[in-house]
Amino acid sequence: MQGYKLTGKGQLQYFSTPPTKLKENQLKVKIEKTLLSYGDYLAYQQDSKYQIVLGRYAVGNISELADNNTLFERFQRVVVCSTYTCGQCYNCKTGKQLLCTDKKQLGIDVDGTYCDFIDVPMSSVFALPESVSFDDGLFVEQISLALNVLDKLSIQKGEHVVILSDTKLGLILGQLVTYYGAIPILVQQNKDIVAKAKDVGIFYAFDDKDDGAIESNIFAITGGRMCEKAIYVNTSDLLLSKVDRLCAHYASTCMLSCDNKLEYINAEQLVKKELTITGVSSPMGNFPTAINLLATNQIDISFLKGARVPLANLPKKLDSLDISTLETKSIIVEIN
Ligand SMILES: [Zn+2]
Repeated sequence: MQGYKLTGKGQLQYFSTPPTKLKENQLKVKIEKTLLSYGDYLAYQQDSKYQIVLGRYAVGNISELADNNTLFERFQRVVVCSTYTCGQCYNCKTGKQLLCTDKKQLGIDVDGTYCDFIDVPMSSVFALPESVSFDDGLFVEQISLALNVLDKLSIQKGEHVVILSDTKLGLILGQLVTYYGAIPILVQQNKDIVAKAKDVGIFYAFDDKDDGAIESNIFAITGGRMCEKAIYVNTSDLLLSKVDRLCAHYASTCMLSCDNKLEYINAEQLVKKELTITGVSSPMGNFPTAINLLATNQIDISFLKGARVPLANLPKKLDSLDISTLETKSIIVEIN
């Protein structure tokens, strides 16, 4: 087993170790591709946990099976979910793994995917049909995360859903909202993403900087009712402070990848309008649906694919990387 480990701030070091022995209910996956994502780059650049293999996303082939395996075959093409359940908490032990209260994440809590082999729980591995390429498979997790948001909000046909996002995830969410028969309204800070929205069928996309116009535009689009649902992605103060203004009375909002800035919500409006706020933190639960959406070409993720880099060149790439390139695309890391 070989790969690259984070050994200090901005330091990625090559390592090589003897093959590991599989534990019960695990599979060994030969990783073919992984992503250099925005989150990975932040972990690399900021003070974080050292002596850990970064990387959250992986597609590859099964190279070794646990003795008790009945679900998978050797050499099967698979995608790995980056979030593991603990197996120890009350919910895990009573068969409600999706509600695990102590989830672990690859590349953050446990060694990740910047390496050639990884041992993962069987429950975190999903077969990829031939019609889904490894490149596309790398984005299954983000689609599954977006589907979890839509499930949480119980999106209904004909509803207006405002998506406040300054990441490319907004484009995935927008497409899925359309797929569910609802109407996405994307509010972004990134002009490239606003421009891209039309290409993927998101008709209403506004630049966040045009503040005054957004509220009046949404008023017009919704016939004065404002949005029944809102999705807030990421950490912009400006965007979060708008949630209550763009929502209808009794609307539901889902927060995703949020930090500690909830205080910026207008609590008075929240109570007055009786808004419901919920959150999603895990991509677990919708991997099969996400794979099916890709296999049947129901979602376009081509715009997410950035440059390619062999694993051996990853330290050099990270050294010279302009982070703004990761705002609109993820870099595909090829392990061979
Ligand atoms: Zn658990």
